[in-house]
Order: sequence, then structure tokens, then C-alpha cells
Amino acid sequence: MECRSEDADLLLVARVREGDVDASLILWRRHCETALTWAGKHVAGGDDAALVVRRAFARVMSEIAADQDPVLPFLLYLCATVEDEAGAAPGQKTSDLSLVRAFRKLRGSYQTVLWYTVVEPLPQAILAVVLDREQTDLRIHARQAVSLLRAEWVAETVADRSVPDSCAWLVLRVDAYQAGMLGQLSEQRYERHLHGCGWCVTMVDALGHLLDVLRSVVLPPAAEGSHALLDPEPAEEPTTTSC
Ligand SMILES: [Zn+2]
Repeated sequence: MECRSEDADLLLVARVREGDVDASLILWRRHCETALTWAGKHVAGGDDAALVVRRAFARVMSEIAADQDPVLPFLLYLCATVEDEAGAAPGQKTSDLSLVRAFRKLRGSYQTVLWYTVVEPLPQAILAVVLDREQTDLRIHARQAVSLLRAEWVAETVADRSVPDSCAWLVLRVDAYQAGMLGQLSEQRYERHLHGCGWCVTMVDALGHLLDVLRSVVLPPAAEGSHALLDPEPAEEPTTTSC
């Protein structure tokens, strides 16, 4: 990962929009390997995967130049376009996953802070320059982004018709249960259901490790040490982030 703020994806994309060819070359060199791995999940031969990546990259560049790109971190946008160009079947795209749908519903600044904290971690000082924010603000923004993502994911899950009502009932009450705020009858119902439902056990666990789950579903294994922004500050903020 390069450590100059002017080379951050976000700023390179802005340069591509202005017709800067060098910026698109840097983005290509930085992301073509990941895009190729991604394409390999959907097409069989290496040559085909390379072709798919080249097509996807060209499409992304022209959409950015035409100001028609979606509000998404660049790599997520590129990988979604790779899946599209590879002809991924409905239900097999990353964008079909409920957590990714929830992520894409977040405002651009929340997506950016989460992405460059968790998935492609940038040093805090660089991210502050890129987003034009104080580092302290950035930490607060990152925490807000996590709780919004969590709430959106719960909403996506509950709205999913394939999730049984009894499971949706539980998912809506995970926070209240963990805070000891459920009434006695609800608490008993919660525990009874959890005891007999593997799906809910997995979901509760995933909600407790939200950022790890996000990273694991959107990209191949990423660099270590990505939680720096979300780690509690030693003295002033003794509370930990919820995930
Ligand atoms: Zn359940």
C-alpha cells in the first residue's frame, strides 16, 4: 500500500474524471491482480479472466470519465464490474450478499471511511487528508459507519423473505438481548430459539464480528492491522467499538 495521500484511489479517480491517463495507469497497476483473482471465481480459463478484467477496467474508466460511476470505493466498483462482464449469474454476485447491499446503502463518506479502514487500510493520517477531516472526527465517523452498517444489515436481513419470521424476530433483538434489555418472556423466547437454530447462532456471531465479515465477503484476504482507526483511544475513550 502506497502512503502518499495524492495516490489514494479516491483522488486518482477524481484525476481520471479530468482525463488524467497516468492516474488510470496507477489504478490499473494497483488493482489488476485482485481483479484477476476476482474474475477467476467466475470464468474458467486464465486468458478469459484477463480479457474480462481488461473489459471491466475499460468500462469503469469510461464510466468515471462520463461521470456515470456509482458511489462506491473504486475496488468494489471494479470487482462488481468484473462480475458483470464475467456474466455472473443472479444470486452469485457479491452485490447480492445482504451485507454488501447494506454497505452500498451507506452514504459515500461512510463507505469510504469503512472501506479504507477495514478492507484496504490506509494510514489514518492519509485518510484524514483524503477525506479532509480531523483524525478525531474520522474515528467518530468510523464508529458511526459501523453502527449504521450494522443497522442496515439487520434491516436487509429482516426484509429477506427467505428468513423465517422467528429468526427475523431474534435478529431484531440481538442488541437488546446483549444489553440485558429484553423482558423475561422475550429473553426466554430468544434463548430457546437460539438454542435450536444454527442460522441464528451464525448470524449473531457475524453481527459480533461485523468488520471481519465485511472484509471476508468483499475481497480476498486483506492486510493485517486494519482496525487502527476503530481501536479505542487509550485514555479518552475507554469504550470499545461494538464489533
Ligand atoms: Zn433462527
